[in-house]
Amino acid sequence: MSKQKISAIPSIRRLPSYLHIIRQYRDEGQEYISGTVIAQELRLEPIQVRKDLAITGIVGKPKKGYPVVALMAAIEHFLGWDEVQQAVLIGAGNLGTALAGYQEFQFHGLNICAAFDQNPAKIGTNIHGVPVFSLETLSHQVSVLGASIAVLTVPSPYAQEVTDQLVQSGITAIWNFTNVKLKVPDNVIVQREDLTSGYAMLCVMMNARKNDE
Ligand code: NAD
Repeated sequence: MSKQKISAIPSIRRLPSYLHIIRQYRDEGQEYISGTVIAQELRLEPIQVRKDLAITGIVGKPKKGYPVVALMAAIEHFLGWDEVQQAVLIGAGNLGTALAGYQEFQFHGLNICAAFDQNPAKIGTNIHGVPVFSLETLSHQVSVLGASIAVLTVPSPYAQEVTDQLVQSGITAIWNFTNVKLKVPDNVIVQREDLTSGYAMLCVMMNARKNDE
């Protein structure tokens, strides 16, 4: 990621929710959408929305707003979602199965094409149509499938050893759902995901509302 993109991290985090609203407008047959409308839908300031959209390079028309189709394309291109990425999922348990079944990823160019597990009872089955393989076949599958991303949903005690295997098999980006700070070489990107940070926000907002009452 370029330095410019890294400095825009809060904006990048908001872009998917903009995309969701814009897609709804497109499906309703609207040709244009204004920054103010997006801001109202998401309870943000219009200036913030306009600034965020500016990083994609798109320019709105005065009084009309942004052309919906071009705006979607600009956001998807900026996020790299206009190219399909092949991903493998490691750990076909509760969370892994839920992620494999999340149809929305296809709109973001993320294709979970294979899952891996150490449980013999799961190997040879499939989760939401995604085949589950033995970890022993990881290197071979990663190269055959052309996968660069791994979604890591194993129990935390196994996270580092599985990561070492992923790196050896040529994976260069790991979406890490475990609570382990993974050690990886410089050429490998790790993004840690934690649902509790969203829950923390919810709790703080609930407490703030309670204090206002
Ligand atoms: P789970 O026990 O249902 O699934 C874990 C799966 O990993 C099982 O199928 C198991 O057989 C497999 N596994 C175990 N060791 C393995 C190995 N060495 N190689 C390959 N597969 C292996 O657990 P879960 O509830 O799906 O949680 C999975 C992970 O996700 C945990 O680390 C959990 O803490 C984490 N999690 C994170 C969040 C979040 O917000 N980031 C939310 C839920 C769970």
